[in-house]
Amino acid sequence: MGSRMSIKTRIAIAYARTKLSSRKVSEDVENPLHEWVQLKVRNTFKQDEDFRKALGRSKLGEIDRAVFEEYQLHRFRKQVAYVMENSYYYQRKYAEAGVVPERIRTMEDLDQVPLTEPADLAEEPFLFLCVSQSRIARTFSTSGTSGKNKRLFYTREDLLNIIDSIAAALRSAGLKSNETLHIMFPAVVAWDPSLMLESACKVAGLKSVVCSEVDVDEQVRVMRERGTRVIIGLTSFIYRVTVLARERYDLRSLGLKAIICSSEPLSEAVRREMEEAWGCKCLSQYGMTEMGLATAIECHEQTGLHINEADFLVEVIDPDSGKRLPPGEEGELVWTSLSFQGSPLLRYRSYDISHYIPPPCPCGHLTVGKIGKPKGRRDAATKIGLGERIFPVLFDEAIMQVKGALNYQLVIDKPSFRDRLHFTVEYSGDMERGRREVMEALTSLDEIKNGLDNDLLEPIEVEMREVSKDFTPKMKPIIDRRQSYDN
Ligand SMILES: [Zn+2]
Repeated sequence: MGSRMSIKTRIAIAYARTKLSSRKVSEDVENPLHEWVQLKVRNTFKQDEDFRKALGRSKLGEIDRAVFEEYQLHRFRKQVAYVMENSYYYQRKYAEAGVVPERIRTMEDLDQVPLTEPADLAEEPFLFLCVSQSRIARTFSTSGTSGKNKRLFYTREDLLNIIDSIAAALRSAGLKSNETLHIMFPAVVAWDPSLMLESACKVAGLKSVVCSEVDVDEQVRVMRERGTRVIIGLTSFIYRVTVLARERYDLRSLGLKAIICSSEPLSEAVRREMEEAWGCKCLSQYGMTEMGLATAIECHEQTGLHINEADFLVEVIDPDSGKRLPPGEEGELVWTSLSFQGSPLLRYRSYDISHYIPPPCPCGHLTVGKIGKPKGRRDAATKIGLGERIFPVLFDEAIMQVKGALNYQLVIDKPSFRDRLHFTVEYSGDMERGRREVMEALTSLDEIKNGLDNDLLEPIEVEMREVSKDFTPKMKPIIDRRQSYDN
């Protein structure tokens, strides 16, 4: 691998490495993510006089939650001032709202700053750009549900920041420098995170291998050959490989330390199956392309995902009123990038539903909080039967607990006054048994039972499908063909 790199590239990587805080966290610390966050606060204290002034201290001392919030507010003020100077979008929007960075002193003051709508970003991404074109090192595109692509711009420093947070997250999952990360995203996903992960590992000094093969023998062979210790990939893709490979291999003998499930929600049913098969913890990761992907990851406690709060400020709001909600209450996640320079987003609506869990965590994390496992996007929720709000994760839990079920899709329509639910399930095993078990799992759900009892649902339809040769990620697990449904 080294011989293919030019001397120039090698020097660039070596230089980049010196800038990563994650490289300065020792391999043996109990909680690498915690150490890394602390290090970043200390760096800011050293380098930024405004932060020292805001804290009113000449020595930092212990970083408790109060100090940490002061750090976040300091960075938030700086970002507000920065975007007001450099982005057309924020210049206009914040001037109209009368935003003054210096007036933001407590978390409650964040209310003075208007929310950013994803539709605005999709409509005119260049209005968000804060640097000259020549400083843009990379552009990410993300397809929104509205159809229009959102574009995000990252500078070289932004990319280093992302790499640093990816490395810190991988270390927190247990990956050490001499161990291999197995990167497992199918080649068919529209935007492939493999490249980003691979180069992040290279710069951070971690070993990795990209394997997008649908063929499970090939997957297991590569893991054995490379001595894989941690897997990261698309949840449904890893699950597919798990179900098909465990029939032929003793997956526990590979000695994995952890599996990181990315890009799709991880249901508890799938988690149980995978932990059983591989004999290691299965951790959920939450990333938004708009925020540079690495935003939150579960610790081994599995009671929520630790947010990279050194680089992101997370709030939970009531999606209808826009009001900030207290910790523990469920609402929509709103993200602010505290570090990016290319096209940073402030108070950006994610449409994802979750709640905030303040520190400490039994894993040893004392300063940063967690989000509960996101339930899914607000616009992915639908209503059936009695008008109960349903997230796809409800059906994930029900269907994926059936042994052999790999994937599913639900089409809802309304041929008469009743809703009709048609499930197509990709399944490995005896089809008739599978169909019966899926049917039992679905009809035991209260939401479906109530709908049937009240004559608001047509009888549930379950169609079983053989395991396909290819893998198709379900971009939309629920397709709603109804003209309208009652809100
Ligand atoms: Zn924890």
